[in-house]
Amino acid sequence: MTASTAAQAAYIVAALLFIVSLAGLSKHETSRTGVVYGITGMTIALVATVVLASRSIAAGGLALLLVAMAIGATIGLWRARRVEMTGMPELIAMLHSFVGLAAVLVGWDGYYDVEAKGAAQTAVASDLLRIHHAEVFIGVFIGAVTFTGSIVAYGKLSARIKSAPLMLPGKNVLNVGALLAFVGLTAAFVAHPSLGLLIAVTALALALGWHLVASIGGGDMPVVVSMLNSYSGWAAAASGFLLDNNLLIVTGALVGSSGAYLSYIMCQAMNRSFLSVIAGGFGAVAPAGSETDYGEHHEITAPEAAKLLSTASSVIITPGYGMAVAQAQFPVAELTARLRERGVQVRFGIHPVAGRLPGHMNVLLAEARVPYDIVLEMDEINDDFASTTVVLVIGANDTVNPAALEDPGSPIAGMPVLRVWEAEHVIVFKRSMAAGYAGVQNPLFYRDNTQMLFGDAKERVQDILHAL
Ligand code: NDP
Repeated sequence: MTASTAAQAAYIVAALLFIVSLAGLSKHETSRTGVVYGITGMTIALVATVVLASRSIAAGGLALLLVAMAIGATIGLWRARRVEMTGMPELIAMLHSFVGLAAVLVGWDGYYDVEAKGAAQTAVASDLLRIHHAEVFIGVFIGAVTFTGSIVAYGKLSARIKSAPLMLPGKNVLNVGALLAFVGLTAAFVAHPSLGLLIAVTALALALGWHLVASIGGGDMPVVVSMLNSYSGWAAAASGFLLDNNLLIVTGALVGSSGAYLSYIMCQAMNRSFLSVIAGGFGAVAPAGSETDYGEHHEITAPEAAKLLSTASSVIITPGYGMAVAQAQFPVAELTARLRERGVQVRFGIHPVAGRLPGHMNVLLAEARVPYDIVLEMDEINDDFASTTVVLVIGANDTVNPAALEDPGSPIAGMPVLRVWEAEHVIVFKRSMAAGYAGVQNPLFYRDNTQMLFGDAKERVQDILHAL
């Protein structure tokens, strides 16, 4: 068996492991095994690639490759150990930008390897040359859009750039115009490849990626992150075609299609069409003075909340981003256990975009060993609020905002939310009356059956535990 055949066999095994890994990651119970499959697949893929490369490059080149891998692995391990759960989305956005940049570099390398040498000098068969031209051009385009788009998403998610959408006049015309220009440039490049056209498409795509994501604001960011995830997959697949690497094509397609599907599921969860997300504008901060006066809010203390909980027959906890910030999941798990010991029915209601990345709350609750069977999805629990004694809203805001259902003029109108206000009592844990991620006021805080428990969520839950 030649090294190349062995590498192809290893690639097939790795591709299968990636598929099994995705299947494992779709459920809490099997997610750890899913990660192990993924790591195994990636290790096999890396070893096969390095062994294959070692046959065709000089010893100096191989040494460089190993040094690059060692530096990359060190940085990766260091970042992964240090990242907080709340910082995951921005880390993911940053990683997508690397995939985009790699695809641009691979495309440019492909150009210098084939197109720049002229048809007579290259190893590519003449009837496949035009396909190669298209691969280079499309790969560079997708890669560059992913690169700048991901950098802007990273900036917004880490609050280095304002999360409000950029509203340039005629922004949709700009996006559609850029796509049409891309189609025209591709046709020109396939007919007569030139460095000028490659520079033009790179600049166009860098600007488009930046504008596309800058125009999207606040509450639509989760969809953007998974959309960029999808782009990065297609960028990797495009590189796979150029490098003639089947595993990269398969893996890129897996990432591309699963990212696209995740974006679709999230659009459904937020009741937004994919096109309206791309068109942007959602999440704009309301102009000063436009706030509605909902009246007075009511406050509650931790001992009073403890008293209410001890007499409740059923409790639903709806966590949000604030629980992650406060790292309140451990005392929340303890409170759950205490109440259950007293015979109170306790369940969790999880909104699909609670927190800052899909599944964020499920990961935190699993970390604190909350039993899976009491953690329910929004659709499973939404009809039960009306028969619930107390709802504890722990650091959630947009995901429990009644304006989404009741105010057609609200920026989040139509987004499905947890109907917590239907319960007998609602206790909201947060530090102030400030708005949530989408920058929208929340009338829930002013309802007669809602009481605010101000302060850091972790400290307040601990206070309730003491009082209990
Ligand atoms: P929000 O982001 O709407 O609100 C979080 C609330 O937590 C804030 O009102 C804040 O109020 C409070 N908070 C912050 N820190 C603390 C603390 N230490 N203790 C107590 N409270 C705290 O949360 P949701 O989870 O309800 O909504 C998620 C939002 O994020 C949605 O708009 C969603 O679209 C968006 N998003 C979701 C992503 C995903 O994939 N899940 C990704 C990116 C964005 P205060 O400051 O007064 O304490």
